[in-house]
This record gives sequence, C-alpha cells and structure tokens, in this order.
Amino acid sequence: MYSCRIAFHETGTIYTFTCILVFQTTFILKQLFMNYLLKQTFMAAAGMLAIALVSGGCRQTDKNNQSVPALSASNMDTTVNPGDDFYKYANGAWLRNNPIPGEYSRYGAFEVLEEENYKQLKVILAEASADKNATTGTVNQKIRDFYNSGMDTLKIDKDGISPIKAELDQIDAFASLDDVQKMIIQQHAAGNYPLFYVFSSQDEKNSNQVIAMTYQGGLGLPDRDYYLSDDARSKEIREKYITHMVKMFVLAGTAPDKAASDANVVMKIETELAKISSTRLELRNPIANYNKTDLAGLQKMAPGIDWKAYFEGIRLEPSCEINVSQPKFITGMAKMFSTTPIADWKVYFRWDIINSAASLLSSDFDKEHFAFYGTVLTGAKEQQPRWKRMIDQTSGSLGEAVGQLYVQKFFPPEAKKRMIELVNNLKISLGERIDGLSWMTDITKKEAKAKLEKINVKIGYPDKWIDYSSMAIGTDSYYANVKSARQFAVNRDISKIGKPVDRSEWGMTPQTINAYYSPNMNEIVFPAAILQPPFFFMDADDAVNYGAIGMVISHEMTHGFDDQGRQYDKEGNLHDWWLADDSKNFEAKTKILVDQYDNYKMLDSLHVDGKLTLGENIADLGGMSVAYNGLLKALNGKKPDEKIDGFTPDQRFFLSYAQVWRANTRDEETMRRLKEDVHSPGEARVNAIVYNIPAFYTAFDIQSTDKRYIAPENRADIW
Ligand SMILES: [Zn+2]
Repeated sequence: MYSCRIAFHETGTIYTFTCILVFQTTFILKQLFMNYLLKQTFMAAAGMLAIALVSGGCRQTDKNNQSVPALSASNMDTTVNPGDDFYKYANGAWLRNNPIPGEYSRYGAFEVLEEENYKQLKVILAEASADKNATTGTVNQKIRDFYNSGMDTLKIDKDGISPIKAELDQIDAFASLDDVQKMIIQQHAAGNYPLFYVFSSQDEKNSNQVIAMTYQGGLGLPDRDYYLSDDARSKEIREKYITHMVKMFVLAGTAPDKAASDANVVMKIETELAKISSTRLELRNPIANYNKTDLAGLQKMAPGIDWKAYFEGIRLEPSCEINVSQPKFITGMAKMFSTTPIADWKVYFRWDIINSAASLLSSDFDKEHFAFYGTVLTGAKEQQPRWKRMIDQTSGSLGEAVGQLYVQKFFPPEAKKRMIELVNNLKISLGERIDGLSWMTDITKKEAKAKLEKINVKIGYPDKWIDYSSMAIGTDSYYANVKSARQFAVNRDISKIGKPVDRSEWGMTPQTINAYYSPNMNEIVFPAAILQPPFFFMDADDAVNYGAIGMVISHEMTHGFDDQGRQYDKEGNLHDWWLADDSKNFEAKTKILVDQYDNYKMLDSLHVDGKLTLGENIADLGGMSVAYNGLLKALNGKKPDEKIDGFTPDQRFFLSYAQVWRANTRDEETMRRLKEDVHSPGEARVNAIVYNIPAFYTAFDIQSTDKRYIAPENRADIW
C-alpha cells in the first residue's frame, strides 16, 4: 500500500497512493493480478482477548462484551529502560509470548487484527455459501458460487492443468512476432500482464482527468535488484527461483532436461528486463515517472511493437493520452521484443501463464508456488488454510459486495462520528504546527494551509457501491470465476480512460485493515476495518486513541507534505508551489531523518534504507507530532497527570503508538522488506521516531546517559 506509492489494483481501478503500511509496486501488482487478491496486510482485531488482565482503569469492551484493557502492562518488559529501547520496553513480553504462527512471515498487531477480520468475514462467507435461495445474478449468488468453487478442491485437482491448456497450446504454436504480440494483447485485455502493465490513472498534471498509463513489469521476482545484486541472499534466491521454475515446468509436462534449459531462458529474459527497470528509489520520483504522450509518441518511443493494434486490442481509443511511467523500460522492452528469438518467447510466455495461474490450479502447482513465493521469499512455514485464502480471493474479486455485508454486520455508525471529530481536531492541529514552523516562509505556509484545508476525508465505506451485475460467476469452475472477475475489473478500469475522475471511488475495500493518502485526490481514507483496537478504541481515553488512530490520521495527512506529497498542489496536480528557500530548508530537515534511518541496524549487518523509506518516516514523525499536539488540545482543562492503569496520559500516548507496531518477523521477511518496503520495520517506526520528540523525554524521564538519547540539536523535527 503503495510509497507505498503503488499503483494498486483492486476493484478495477489502479490507484496511486500512499498508505500506512505494506509493500510496494510491481511484485504486489504481479501478485495481485496473479492471485487477484489484495494481499496488503489485512488483519483484524484483537489479541486483545489474550490480554484479559490489567489493573483497573480504562477498558475496551470487545465483541463478546468482555472487558479488555486498551493498554496492558503484561505486554511490556519493564526491566528494559525506556531510554535504551522503547519498543522492547512497551512490547517485550508480548514479543516473547507470541511466536510467529507457521502461516505467517510476520506476526504483530496488524496480523492479530487480521485473524479477527478473518473470523468476521468467515461469518459472512459461511452465510452466503449456505444460501441456497440466492437468486441468480444477485451479489449473494456471486459471493456464494465464487467462494464455493474455490473451496471445491476435488474438482480443482481433477481439472489439473486443463484450465490453462488452450493458452499453452496457443503459445506452442507461435510462428511469428505477430503471434507473440497477439498474445500480449489478448492477455492484457483479460487482466494478465506479461512484460508490462497498462491501466487507468489520474493525470498527474490534470487531476480531474483519467488517462492511460504503462508501468514496468515482466519479472517473476519481487524486484529488479534480486536479478542484479551480488549479495548472498539475492544469489540464493536466484538459484532457488531457477529450481522452482524447473519443478513447475516439469509439473506442466516439460521433460526435465528441457525444463532446466527453459528456466535459464526465463532467467535471461527477466534479467534483461531487470536491467532496464527503474529502481525503487527512482520510482519514488513523480516527475521522472510522468511522461505523457499519445499513440504516435509511444510508437516513436518504442518501435517494434504495433501500438495501434495494441490500443485497439485492449479497447483504448486511438486518441487517448498515455503516461509512459518508465520510458527507458518501454523503449528497452520493445527492442527486446523484436530481437529475442521466437523460441525464447515461447518459453517466457509459457512461464508467465503457468506462474500467474499456479495458485488457482491443482494442489501440486499451488503447493510448489507457495514453497517458493511463501517459504523461500518470506520464510512462512506453512500455507494459510484454504478458507482464509478463499476469503481473500472472494474479498478481492467482489470487494465492495463483501464490503457491503461486512459494514452492515460489523461497523458501528458511532465509530464514524467519533472519527470525524478526531479528523477535524487533527486538521486544526496540523494547521497550528504549520503556523509554528520556524523554517518555512509565510507565503509557503499559506499554500500549505490551503492544501490542508482542501484534504478530503473518507471514513468507513463508500457512499456509492460498485455494481457487479455484469460479472458472471457460476458453479462450474473456480478458474473461470477468477478470470471472469478479472475481466470485469479490467473492463471497468479501461472504461474510465478519457473521462473525468469519479471522486466517490475508493482505493481500498471497507474490510481492509489499512488507510491511505492519495496525492492526486488530495484525500485521506480510513476503511471500516482499521477502526478497531488496537488502532481505534470506541470507549478508551483520548491518550490511547491519539497515540494510535490519531497518529494514523495525522500520518496520512502528513503524506500530503512528505518528500513526494509536497510536490502536488491542493488540487492534486504535480506542481511546485514551494519557494526555493523553503524547499532547501525542507531538504536539510529531511536529511537528518535520512541519516538516522540509514544508521538504524537490523539483523546485525543490515540497515534501513533512509531514502527509500523517507516519505513514510516523515509521515510517522509528523504524524506523532501532530497527534500529540491534538492530544494536548483534547486534554485541555483535564488534569494532565491523571493516571490510568498506572500511566499518565503522555505515557499512554507513546505506549499506544508502540503497541500498534509490535511484531515478530522472520529473517527472510525482514530482508525482503528492507529491500522492497517503503515502510520501515515496526521496531524502527517506534525507536527511530520517539527519541526525536521532546514530550517523550519528559513522559519517561529520559536521561542524556540513556542509549538512544538524542541531543536536542540533533533531533529531527519537520512538521
Ligand atoms: Zn504511510
């Protein structure tokens, strides 16, 4: 979710936005289209249940009406000095008592909530799947048949590779480049994306307009660096990827010798694609990724492919404008297209079809797919149970249909009211922070406040739901159902191009545990599912809520003013509204944060990438500063040292923040995220932030002799 500036495909639109957690870009995109699911850190509410005891004070009532504390001392490790390692002080006991379950590569507050979310969605899916009377064509029938077809593993195993047989035969029959191009068009028109992506997008410089956009792709590994880096981990992954491809080719009927040479062909093509791909850092530069042109311009930029036939094939108007996000990639890819032998394209496309369908096919394909993408890449020991994966698939394919049922059953309207109050208070708080900035001129401050004022807010669920009536879902084949849902999403997406932006649309479903800021929309969005503990406590004290959901709200607002977000104006257009001196001061301020994170060590020898994670770190730091200011306003008139569960409001604010980011993570996953994720690891989100905030020093009586003490003149402070 994705800076998580990612182009993010869910219910048919590709949204570019910045969210509170999770991965980024092409791998996720690839996975999304592959599995057609929105695997962006779901989760659900409540290890809460395990925390039954804690002395008196504020308690949150859970869904079973059990009284559970918003903060629990039993999760802390009070033997740790908060000045040495606040993350461990706040979460040490929880981390010790909650080993990672086999199906997870990371297990923390988000995953605990994800488990709760699965329970809720299971209730919805169980009701839907047992509803024999659902009328054909209704969403209830579609949810029922989609889910049931995915659970029918007898049928899926019996079908084996047959669902993709016709496509594999078509590839075997490639006789010319024309046949290869036809395959690209056919796949892209159906929502599978060999070589590159195309989708609708807001025009970065005219945010009211939807245009087409291309995005680099074509890789089976999560990032270009895996192909090009010489470190031991990348080499190991490359070797295991080749072994995995060989196994999959053999499963699909290729002789072992041929499978081995085929795997090398794929590796060679993907490595060439990796070389022309932008790095994750380059992808974070909106100006470099804005290259609007038209059909003629694209043809000139990437000769070798017949773009007129391509436009026609995927039903793009010949007159439509298109942003070629990474020109170097499109140019290089088109060159590769005409110089690579047809025999090699046969192998590459065969791999693309097998790999993108694997998790939808019989258990032999599914298991081997997981063994690489789950175990090797993330360290997960076992696959999630099938019902959870089918909830994800159903929820990804019929997102807002499931969301509508979810909201009816599980989202209390009072939560929305409380959120509106919080957001309004925090908007005022950020405004006050901007007023108080010593490094910004009044002229730029005025613009910043105008942008803040214009931030649109969406809470809970959309006012208008997606109409799924044209999506055909039957009882016959799971694979056919997934294809149909994918086709629906692509048709919906392509139909938007050339039209004005629909501002009522959402980029996440209500059942998603996440939040986002969209720079093009200049809006912040909080799906219903994040409005639960440990983020949002309906009945808890302000300190706990401001430290968690208050910080999430402020984090998202700050994205409008981070190193990327600040490049967009109040209307969502890529346009520089900063005076040169202000930009210079901003960059000097952020440099401190870059250095701090670059020096944050993980797994002994690795470190966080300060530049890659800069946008998120600015949002975390700004989020905490703005949320704390908001808390002070909310506490106005109340006794500031009144303790609940033994902690002052200030202490509860920081403890609540730290609890949100607690997680145990497998080493493989930590290594993967350090490379790919624009968010810092949870530990760093706590420890690299709080020691920059003056109020933290007073709240926990931090001394200059403490390990993580930062002298006031060296602290980062931006928003
Ligand atoms: Zn964020």
